Amino acid sequence: MAPKSCALCQNSKAILRRPKTGQHICKHCFFTVFETEVHNTIIQAHLFKPGDRVAIGASGGKDSTVLAYVMKTLNDRYQYGLNLFLLSVDEGITGYRDDSLETVKRNQEQYDMPLKIVSYEELYGWTMDRVVSAIGKKNNCTFCGVFRRQALDRGASGLGVDQIVTGHNADDIAETVLMNIMRGDIGRLGRCTAICTQGEDMIRRSKPFKYAYEKEIVMYAYFKKLDYFSTECIYSPDAYRGHARAFLKDLEAARPSAIIDIIHSGEAFELKEEVRATQKSQQTCKRCGYMSSNDLCKACSLLESLERGMSTAITDKGRRKLEAQGLTPDNMRTIPYFHPSSSVDAEAES
Ligand code: SF4
Ligand code: ZN
Ligand code: ZN
Repeated sequence: MAPKSCALCQNSKAILRRPKTGQHICKHCFFTVFETEVHNTIIQAHLFKPGDRVAIGASGGKDSTVLAYVMKTLNDRYQYGLNLFLLSVDEGITGYRDDSLETVKRNQEQYDMPLKIVSYEELYGWTMDRVVSAIGKKNNCTFCGVFRRQALDRGASGLGVDQIVTGHNADDIAETVLMNIMRGDIGRLGRCTAICTQGEDMIRRSKPFKYAYEKEIVMYAYFKKLDYFSTECIYSPDAYRGHARAFLKDLEAARPSAIIDIIHSGEAFELKEEVRATQKSQQTCKRCGYMSSNDLCKACSLLESLERGMSTAITDKGRRKLEAQGLTPDNMRTIPYFHPSSSVDAEAES
């Protein structure tokens, strides 16, 4: 049988079957449609304005590596006028994060973007290795998600960026919709499909890959020969999310549009006023100055549970480093923060 020609350009030989649409297309057309769809997502959601300083949350994994590459490509091609940075979190996971950070350091050279790394050790005095040795492998992702959220905030403040973009893809969002339905968490269900999260005092955080399929991100990285790290975290991720993921993969195998359909279903939910109104009023954390709905922010109360008697949530070394960036407990209250109740999102970001 003669090789099929590309369904889009009709000129070249089709060498791949596009997971999202099932079309047989050539490599060049795949790059074009993938990049153009991300560009359209960015334009339709008005994600950026010229001159914005944007941090790319970079883990060295496929999603954030492709995001860094595509952001650079689109910024040049369409002249977005963005200043791009890489922002990484070092959770302190031996044999996983130390290796993936080496990948990010190479990406820094390859993409010519400044890189900032913030570590749990310096900020909190705890690595995830130590957290897991203290609490075991049960709730580790909850700790890690809360710590990451604040770490990214502090890193973003240090870089003086206007917003953070993360590599959350369509599969991650569809999974989160399913998890929130299965947990009956209607408040989060209403928020989890938002392409941007932003509130008062909160740095804008957005997901340019909201409609990009994970399979296509992997394919893009493969055909572009991008340098990324593919090992999973050694502290097995959230088991419940794993079930949602397996279920979603089954649905996708039966009908590829399931992923987008679930996202659209999530978007279509309308929250009743009383569900929306359950958010508590904000104050600042008594220990670290972060915005919080209680006396202590989530990170500080987790730290308290880890180390009773520890007098400050942030280590002396971490504090000195923050002060060197002009961040003191007094002005930290102006540091942008992410709403602590959206930790389901944070779990997906490993
Ligand atoms: Fe942290 Fe992700 Fe590992 Fe969980 S799976 S411990 S959230 S890096
Ligand atoms: Zn083609
Ligand atoms: Zn705190």
